[in-house]
Amino acid sequence: MNYQQILSDILRQAESLAGEGRQADYIPALAEVNPDQRGICLHTLEGEQFAVGDADVRFSIQSIAKVFALAMSLSFEGDDLWRRMGKEPSGTAFNSLFQLEIEHGIPRNPFINAGAIVMADILVSHMLDPEHDFLTFVRRLAGNDTINYNRTVAYSERQTGYLNAAIANLLKHHHNINNDIERVLQFYCLMCSIEMSCRQLAQAFIPFADHQQPFRYAGVELTASQVKRMNAIMQTCGFYDEAGEFSYLVGLPGKSGVGGGIAAIYPQRYAVAVWSPRLNGKGNSVVGMRVLELLTTETKESIF
Ligand code: GLU
Repeated sequence: MNYQQILSDILRQAESLAGEGRQADYIPALAEVNPDQRGICLHTLEGEQFAVGDADVRFSIQSIAKVFALAMSLSFEGDDLWRRMGKEPSGTAFNSLFQLEIEHGIPRNPFINAGAIVMADILVSHMLDPEHDFLTFVRRLAGNDTINYNRTVAYSERQTGYLNAAIANLLKHHHNINNDIERVLQFYCLMCSIEMSCRQLAQAFIPFADHQQPFRYAGVELTASQVKRMNAIMQTCGFYDEAGEFSYLVGLPGKSGVGGGIAAIYPQRYAVAVWSPRLNGKGNSVVGMRVLELLTTETKESIF
């Protein structure tokens, strides 16, 4: 498969969407990013990399960090994790409050904000220095020690994150947060603020694409079955209330973030990351969705 040629072609085809959508600005620091950048990197299980466009520019991975948080939380808690959250698609916005109220403080899944805030609480409980250990884990997955948090973005989000604060308070009310709320929210915002390029993200997702290899990174260990199940949750819950649409158009497990990134995997073949900051109304990258739709259409490679 000539991935290099295919990636160049599909990025060119996606040009027709240039200017569609808007970058996230509810986190003020994200509004400062040039919205007209775009890149893709595909990393095969054999270790080949194919990259086009702005594939080496680092961006705020935001909710894509929830995949890394889930890997760590599952390795600490095993199936006990599911006492504190579900694994069903939410069909509501990533920062929605009303479902959480009706369901008595049990988030629908780990990839909505409520679920990720509970995971932040779990990681704060398990680790003496969660900021350090989380970053070390992500660096090890990506094989790159220069990956870092962007504390300006984290601070900007914490200053204006009224909805996440409301979610955390509701969770605490229902005894689904054990630590101090402020501590948990600070760590949650920091996790989301990690900056990575498409090239680094694609590499970091290879262990999820290859669940037949042992998953052991920086003390985080998962069984093949746990990795398989994480992929199932990416498939059903990875795209806010557009998970069905992404499944329909693309047919790969993945996770998006409001920084405009999407990471996806084709099991036993490759991991791919795409970035373009302009988002559709559901919070997913307009160009990112189209590029991945074109990728699985042109290559006829998808899980369906
Ligand atoms: N830090 C973001 C928030 O809590 C993550 C949202 C996202 O990327 O979906 O709003």
